[in-house]
Amino acid sequence: MSRVYNFSAGPAVLPEEVLREAADEMMDYKGCGMSVMEMSHRSKVYDEIIKDAEQDLRDLMNIPDNYKVLFLQGGASQQFAAVPMNLMKNKKAGYIVTGQWAKKAYQEAKIYGEAVELASSADKTFSYIPDCSDLDIADDLDYVYICENNTIYGTKFKTLPNTKGKELVADVSSCFLSEPVDVTKYGVIYGGVQKNIGPAGVVIVIVREDLIREDVLPETPTMLKWKIHADNESLYNTPPCYGIYICGKVFKWLKKMGGLEEMKRRNEEKAKILYDFLDESKLFQGTVRKEDRSLMNVPFVTGNEELDAKFVKEASAAGFVNLKGHRSVGGMRASIYNAMPKEGVEKLVAFMKKFEEENA
Ligand SMILES: *Cc1c(COP(=O)(O)O)cnc(C)c1O
Repeated sequence: MSRVYNFSAGPAVLPEEVLREAADEMMDYKGCGMSVMEMSHRSKVYDEIIKDAEQDLRDLMNIPDNYKVLFLQGGASQQFAAVPMNLMKNKKAGYIVTGQWAKKAYQEAKIYGEAVELASSADKTFSYIPDCSDLDIADDLDYVYICENNTIYGTKFKTLPNTKGKELVADVSSCFLSEPVDVTKYGVIYGGVQKNIGPAGVVIVIVREDLIREDVLPETPTMLKWKIHADNESLYNTPPCYGIYICGKVFKWLKKMGGLEEMKRRNEEKAKILYDFLDESKLFQGTVRKEDRSLMNVPFVTGNEELDAKFVKEASAAGFVNLKGHRSVGGMRASIYNAMPKEGVEKLVAFMKKFEEENA
């Protein structure tokens, strides 16, 4: 068996320990004689798996009791519709457009009500986070929406926007569990898990109880009503059982590693290695304004498309895979999520140095 260093933006690298454990339990989960994939979601064994997963997530993020945790299907993109459907009482919401995912959510919201663009960084290819300290926030906005870490462009909100008392809704898909978070600052936190936590398809929604309402938009499908899922503890229908089980294992792994404070320390350490190199390199440059740099997704370019392609190809041959940047930015992107070891980043930088010397 040989494993590569996988810098994919998502689905992405998972902890080897978790994968090994899952492999060990594949045929016979703890003496049940079957895989978690094969068991009833109503069974006692599975109930323990999903309850444990929720409790471990609550411990890790310090989630207050007045927030519900929902394990749902449909990925993050399904919540682009669920958010307005569940929250648009006045049919009006504000969106801060800092990249493709925020834009998609914004466009989806327009189907259901009035979505207002409060700020945008489209003018400079989303390479920065706009100043959100004094936005023009109308009194009747139902919520303010952000994509907290922009996976494609590599920017991150270092301070949350001043929502002037409106509920903050955040898509945290690509920064989920990468550092401690004060849940009380948000009305809703949600994210697809395939960036930092588990297999694609599962989306976790953390929502304050008073925002879980009966009077959602009339056309809301049952499956998109947070209340249905909250009342049924994520077991209204068959949940993505196996995916949730893997998420649960990653939560336990994170706890064992020292929790989110420790992840933050590690992630800062890893990101610094790469950003420091980009800042001193004569060949490679980062594409993001320094103060807005993400700890998770690091886009960079050489300024020469042919050389970018050559780098991606040679890196891949050397075991550093999925470094090609998103087509809208070009160049390269290294996603260095929780499960990417420091050694992976160090070796990537050593490879980049060598490439720079050879192509000077
Ligand atoms: C990947 C990603 C999405 C889309 O997730 P799906 O599960 O494919 O719907 C949405 N938002 C952000 C920030 C992402 O990184």
